[in-house]
Order: sequence, then C-alpha cells, then structure tokens
Amino acid sequence: MDKRLALPLTLLVLTGCAGCSGDGAVRGRPGAAGVRDPYFPRLGNGGYDVQHYGLTLDYAPATGRLRGTAEITARATQDLSAFNLDFAGMKVDSVTVDGERAALHRAGTELTLRPHDAVGRGDTFRTVVHYSGVPRRITDPDESEEGWLRSGERAVGLGEPTGSMAWFPGNHHPSDKASYDIRITVPEGMKAVSNGELRSERTTAGRTSFDWHSAQPMASYLATVAIGPYKTGTAERAEEKPVKKAAEKAGKKSGNSADKAGAGTGAGVATVGPLPIYSAVDPAVAADSARLLAELPGIITWQEKTFGPYPFSSTGVIIGRKGDSQYALETQNRPFLPGPTSVATLVHELAHQWFGNSVTPKSWRDMWLNEGFAEYTEWLWTEHTERVPVRQSFEEAYEDDDNWAFPPAKPPSAVNISDAPVYGRGAMVVQRVREAVGDAAFFRIVRGWLETYRHGNADTHDFTTYVERQAGRDLSGIWDTWLYGDEKPPLD
Ligand SMILES: [Zn+2]
Repeated sequence: MDKRLALPLTLLVLTGCAGCSGDGAVRGRPGAAGVRDPYFPRLGNGGYDVQHYGLTLDYAPATGRLRGTAEITARATQDLSAFNLDFAGMKVDSVTVDGERAALHRAGTELTLRPHDAVGRGDTFRTVVHYSGVPRRITDPDESEEGWLRSGERAVGLGEPTGSMAWFPGNHHPSDKASYDIRITVPEGMKAVSNGELRSERTTAGRTSFDWHSAQPMASYLATVAIGPYKTGTAERAEEKPVKKAAEKAGKKSGNSADKAGAGTGAGVATVGPLPIYSAVDPAVAADSARLLAELPGIITWQEKTFGPYPFSSTGVIIGRKGDSQYALETQNRPFLPGPTSVATLVHELAHQWFGNSVTPKSWRDMWLNEGFAEYTEWLWTEHTERVPVRQSFEEAYEDDDNWAFPPAKPPSAVNISDAPVYGRGAMVVQRVREAVGDAAFFRIVRGWLETYRHGNADTHDFTTYVERQAGRDLSGIWDTWLYGDEKPPLD
C-alpha cells in the first residue's frame, strides 16, 4: 500500500521513495518546471510531451463554479520521478497517474506530481486531475485580462499567452501542442462553444453537454470555451463564391442571411467547399453580426487561394458582447470576437489559423511570426477589396512611430510582446522579403513555409533560414535592419 494516501494532498513533502523501482534504486529525475521561454520561464514543463487532453467541465453560471476533470495523455521524454503541470487558482481535489494516486505539491502556478511509479522515457502515461472552484482572471504583464472571463451568466476562457492555466491544468507552453476533446455541461438553454467539431449535444435533467473534438494539434493558448445564450449554427460549404459577390450579398441580405444559411439557428452563414462552419453569436449582437458572418466564407476562400489549404477540419467564429473580453483572439477553428468587430479584425484572426495556430511559435519571442503575418494579411485584404496597394499600407506603418519602439524579433520584455512593432514592423519585414524576391517567389515561399511547418512549431531562425534557402540568396540585410536592428532604416 502507499502510506502517502493517508496524508492530505497539499501537505505532502516530496522526498519519499516515489520513483524507486522494485529493487529500491531510484529511477528518473524530476521534469523541469519550465521550458525556458525568454519571457515566461516558468511556463510549460519539461520531461514530457502531451499527446491529448480530455477535459470534462461542468459549469454553473449562477455561481461561476466550475468542476473539471483533465485527462492528460503524455509521452515521457526522459525517465521521470516527478513532473509539473501549470495551473492557476481553483482547488485540486485528486490526482492519479496511470490509475494510482500521485503525490502533489503546489507552489504558485506549478503543480508537482510525483507518481507512485516513476515513468520511463518513451512511455505514454495518463494523468487525471479532478479540480473545482471559481476559475480566475489572469492579468497579463501588459495588464490585459485573460484566463476565465465571466460577465454575468456568460463566460469565456481565453489564453494568450498564459490564461488557459486558469481553467485546466496542463503543459501551457505553445511548444507542446496536442489534440483535445472538450466536454462542457451547462444549464439547458445555454450553449457551450469550443474548438474543433461538435460531436454531440445532449440534454439530461435540465443540463446540456456539448462534446467538442479537435483532432489537429492545438497549443493550449488557443483553447477556448465560450458559454452563454449563443445562437449557434452549422452548415456544409456548398460552393465557392468570389469575395466581392459574397460581400455584396452580405450587404443586401444582412437581415436574413444568417437564418437562411444557418439551418434556422441564426448563426450559420454561406459556405465554402467541404469545410463545415460552426459559428456562435450572442443574441444581443445578432443583427449587427450578420455582415461579418456572411463575409467569413469569402475570407476563407481568399485566404486558401493566397496561403494554401485551410489547416483545420472546421471553421467559424464566436461573436460575444462588447466587454466579454478586451481583445479578439484567434482561438483555434473559430476566433473569439468581443462583439461584431471590423471585417479587418476577422480577416486578421482567421489569418492566424495559418500563422500561429497551424505554424505555432516555439517561444513567445517568435510572436511577430503570428502578428506580422496576420497584419500583413490585413494589408493584402485591403488591396484585394479596396485597391489600396500593400506598399501604401507598408509606408503608413513605416511612418508610425509606435512601430519603431523596438525590433520585432526582440521585444524588450513580456510587457511588450503584443506591442505595435510585433504587428506593424513584423508586417514590414514580410513586405521587405516580398520586394526582395518578387511576387511569384514570395507567395511560393509563404505557402511552402506553411506546408513545411504545418501543425508544428517554428521560430524566427527557422523562418529566416527557410526563406533564404528557398530564395537561394542571402537576405541578412533585411534581417539585420528590419527584424533585429534598433535603428529605423531609410526607405528606398
Ligand atoms: Zn493577432
């Protein structure tokens, strides 16, 4: 038997013989408590690679209480006597590893689990954490709020860069992507919208469970749950429509297009090819959201033509109310928008499905690979729909002093990873590459980059190396000045 079971979980001191093998020899060592992210050194954990998260969540909007079970399937990358999960707030009720109770130590946002038997390198092991409480908001270094954002009966989980640890324990660094099954139970009449595809929606005794499945890998900062009285809808995409026509159609039929295409549910929109669309809209903003919903298929079609195949098996958008969050986020499959935003914002968040969600930064220092390309996509869209040349958007960004506070590949601290240079100057880097290699090579390189690193992780070095190899030439002049340089280079 294990005497540790008699002790209160949180008081366990991790010095026993856990990790001892049958002959008494200690096997393994603790996994690292962080993965040395330059801005969030304690974020993520070493020693294992998560394959799958199975989250079972039960939410009570009236009290804000969440009960959760996280089943985490991971592969050990070293012999492990102990390992960490990132988790903020809430109460941990019990933890098992491969069915045996594990000792638990909690300090700040680190849960240290010491399994009954050490896990051997290469082994797949299953950790189950039962937890409960009122999930919290997390204030970022830049003072924006994420984590679990509750507004009355509504709530949304948003995680960039560290907020997902507020509603489930895990390896919360973007370098460890995994597949997900998220089941959320809420009172009947409420909806719970998440990533991936809705497998089932069942109501029993006044409570409805929504089962969401994400087969493609997802970084945890892109996981979401949006709970509220959403109007939801799904549709199969039937035909491709030129963007302009889709926009015109949206303008003419904004009063009823949602009902028509959403199978009567109010939020589905016109469709694109075989890709299912599942969108959710807060009823308070349904009328004002009709145009955005109608634009989505055209945006996806245009982005596929520009960047290559859409990387996930479903798309859509979640449109909440103003104030539900302070910013829009590119949550996987379907971005979360706090109310009906501009079309440009939707274009930006959908671009992230390629740039950030499929090709994910290796660390938060590589954030410009997300935001520079998403902003650049807005420039391309403006050229496509309003005939404003990309070069003009580039020059406007060049003249904006905010973009010159620091080089995009070297934000000075965690406070700055979402500042203007990461977006505007990041996009300028992309345009400099395009001007250097020419249009045909540029779009071939961008599509190749997305294909090569599809569903993986990449950093700035991977990018510059890839571009130079494909271009067949040295582009260090661009990197040194536009990407890493402190000075504002002259414009030619
Ligand atoms: Zn963005």
